[in-house]
Amino acid sequence: TSVLEVKDLHVRVAQTDATAEPINILKGVNLTVRSGETHAIMGPNGSGKSTLSYAIAGHPKYEVTSGSITLDGEDVLAMSVDERARAGLFLAMQYPVEVPGVSMSNFLRTAVTAVRGEAPKLRHWVKETKEAMKELEIDPAFAERSVNEGFSGGEKKRHEILQLGLLKPKIAILDETDSGLDVDALRIVSEGVNRYKEREHGGILLITHYTRILRYINPDFVHVFVDGHVVESGGSELADELEENGYVRFTQAAQAGA
Ligand code: ADP
Ligand code: MG
Ligand code: MG
Repeated sequence: TSVLEVKDLHVRVAQTDATAEPINILKGVNLTVRSGETHAIMGPNGSGKSTLSYAIAGHPKYEVTSGSITLDGEDVLAMSVDERARAGLFLAMQYPVEVPGVSMSNFLRTAVTAVRGEAPKLRHWVKETKEAMKELEIDPAFAERSVNEGFSGGEKKRHEILQLGLLKPKIAILDETDSGLDVDALRIVSEGVNRYKEREHGGILLITHYTRILRYINPDFVHVFVDGHVVESGGSELADELEENGYVRFTQAAQAGA
């Protein structure tokens, strides 16, 4: 089994105006995700959820000022973005980037080759991608389209989950994979995540604003995230409480403590 450990993580982000001071966003995040576990991180807009996912993935704009991130004891912060992917980390971004001029099939093959360390055999590859696309109800014609270019929100999210299924990471971070999905797309995407759980026994960090996706993907742990850190952890009953009462109790406590 694998374990991703985030300890007392502090992260700041450089502002667009380079003369302005960077802003501290993450203020001491502690989190442990093991193979086969699903952790839901739930928090209001602007609480730093995406910052956490970018910091784990190694986005250059997000500077770790203190704390540590390790995967199976290896220092993730010392790894390049590529090395993190090869080590078994995967990030499905809240806003997937468009890559004009690169077809989805080329993109996937390049990514899988980089992560697996060798190019998949063409015959297997064709079969593997066909089946994976079928499971996610992605039209085969999408294989030749430029990555995410002109994709609807739901199509982008399905493409992210297609990558998840093919890359088979040890730990997957899914940042608002549920946002902007209609009911059918939400079900298809959730089923894709659940297949990954069953087949790969992977660990999942499911970042979300709404409890809706948790009807399809059962979290083992729920963490409430406010003002750059985890303020409360529990089981799925915590998600039920959030569904009923929202984040007010937690944001008020954070303000009172500040
Ligand atoms: P969440 O995903 O929980 O909505 P984010 O991590 O996206 O929160 O953002 C947390 C805070 O950090 C917000 O106030 C946001 O405006 C700020 N922030 C994040 N990234 C940047 C950036 N690249 N430049 C400036 N501010 C940023
Ligand atoms: Mg947001
Ligand atoms: Mg976000």
